[in-house]
Amino acid sequence: MARVYNFSAGPAMLPEEVLKKAADELVDYRGAGMSVMEMSHRGKEFKGIIEAAEADLREIMDIPGNYKVLFLQGGASLQFAMVPLNLMKNKKADYVHTGQWTKKAIAEAKKLGDVNIVASSEDETFTYIPELDPRKFSKDADYFYICTNNTIYGTRYAELPETGEVPLVADMSSNILSERTDVSKFGIIFAGAQKNIGPAGVTIVIIREDLIGNAPEELPTLLNYKTHSEAFSMFNTPPTYSIYMAGLVFRWIKERGGIKAIEEKNLKKASMLYDHIDGSDLFKSPVRKEDRSIMNVPFVTGDAEMDAKFIAGASERGLKTLKGHRTVGGMRASIYNAMPVEGVEALVKFMEEFEKNNA
Ligand SMILES: *Cc1c(COP(=O)(O)O)cnc(C)c1O
Repeated sequence: MARVYNFSAGPAMLPEEVLKKAADELVDYRGAGMSVMEMSHRGKEFKGIIEAAEADLREIMDIPGNYKVLFLQGGASLQFAMVPLNLMKNKKADYVHTGQWTKKAIAEAKKLGDVNIVASSEDETFTYIPELDPRKFSKDADYFYICTNNTIYGTRYAELPETGEVPLVADMSSNILSERTDVSKFGIIFAGAQKNIGPAGVTIVIIREDLIGNAPEELPTLLNYKTHSEAFSMFNTPPTYSIYMAGLVFRWIKERGGIKAIEEKNLKKASMLYDHIDGSDLFKSPVRKEDRSIMNVPFVTGDAEMDAKFIAGASERGLKTLKGHRTVGGMRASIYNAMPVEGVEALVKFMEEFEKNNA
């Protein structure tokens, strides 16, 4: 059985070492005589699993003590609603619009209060991160919302906005754990797992303590951060297996030198690919240089037929899922933490060959 290089935007590749470890432990978890999937979430084994996962995440992200880590369900998409439901006291929030994921987040927030769009890059199909003018920030906003990495368009913030007293909320679904992050700059960081954390099913929320407990009384219990914080993410049955897998990924990062080492590897992979694209006559990056993501790399030839031929040829070589998002076209290589350097090398090699044969 040969594993392919899977460039899927999500669910995405997991580290092979993690999959093998999970396979080893699948039927009998460390002598428990049962799989993690079959265990009570209240038992001592699972308690050990979730506590180790949280401790490792805290260590690798250097999460300050006044932040809670929650393991929730509903994906990043439920956070689009939970953020305004829990934080909108003044019914007012600032949003930067950088793509489809912020569009969805904005739509949810608009159901609950006033949304001030501080800036947008919609005019150029979200191929850049817009300039932020602090004069447009609302002083009385309940929070300021960004998506730090725009999975579909391949943009990312090189610099974070300075929002002062207003808590910065970030959808970090597609770049959490990819580079060093100063958690203390954020009020809330959330991320669905299926890009850089583990299998789908668990959503990580890192939340500053003072932002918990301000939700209106009538908010349903399960939508309140306080519920999950007080119950250590065990108010109801959590997605136990996804949490276990996420824990194995956190441990994998830790054993490889932490996020600093992962970041170096990611920068190497991304620059290898961007350098090749920039030096090519056939392939182009639609994204402004300073704003390029190191996780999601869209590229195009400008000819839909040529793109299709490239994607088919790549697939034959075991370079899978390179088709761009349906709204953007072209190609997109998602090169999350689990993508080995060799995968990017193989892609670049195929791009070279393809260009030679199609000049
Ligand atoms: C994938 C993704 C989402 C959606 O995540 P779900 O877990 O499917 O809700 C939201 N935001 C970003 C940036 C994403 O990449």
